[in-house]
Amino acid sequence: MKWTIINKNLTKRPIKVSEYRKYRSEIRLEAKEKCVYCAIHENSLGGSDNFHIEHFKPKSKFSALEKEFENLFYACAICNRFKSNDWPEEPNSNHSVPSYPDPKQVNYNTLFDIDENGLLHGKYVASKYIIEKIVLNRPQLINERKEFKLRARLDKAIMNLPELASKVLLVDRSEKRDLLLQEYMHLTAEIISFQNSEKKISRYRPSEIKRAK
Ligand SMILES: [Zn+2]
Repeated sequence: MKWTIINKNLTKRPIKVSEYRKYRSEIRLEAKEKCVYCAIHENSLGGSDNFHIEHFKPKSKFSALEKEFENLFYACAICNRFKSNDWPEEPNSNHSVPSYPDPKQVNYNTLFDIDENGLLHGKYVASKYIIEKIVLNRPQLINERKEFKLRARLDKAIMNLPELASKVLLVDRSEKRDLLLQEYMHLTAEIISFQNSEKKISRYRPSEIKRAK
């Protein structure tokens, strides 16, 4: 699981909005449909309905920033709820105080280590703080991280299969081997093609899951 690096400068936005919710599509797009805090993709959490526009600096404490585009991010409902109005201190550049690093200034991938069991470890005071505060070691996130690692290994193994198959071809020459290999080559091609198409699917776009009338 990788956090999206948010680049507000690349985001096309309406010039003026009457309310912050109107920024939703831009904010969703710049986040690549992932939560800025836990990095979960909306496909893994029931779709965009379960994602909120997050006020990085809480609007209860920074009311002037309520419609400020630079202060708005895409966050899953769970992180959004855990964070709520929490704002312990202003973040600093070496992350040495309990605080939320600004997702448009800090690459969240640099704040954490992920161990082989999928557990997240904070490298700084700030990242340790947010792991605790918004519960970044939730069971689903641990599983997602494990799955991400396994998938990366599986992808690599699948990519290496044709080479392995060609080596096997040289050893045993029989009809059965040919049939097995054929099936296996077809299956590999289908899996690769499926995995590529899967990456492009947004499974929970509301317009696509509306009930037919
Ligand atoms: Zn989240």
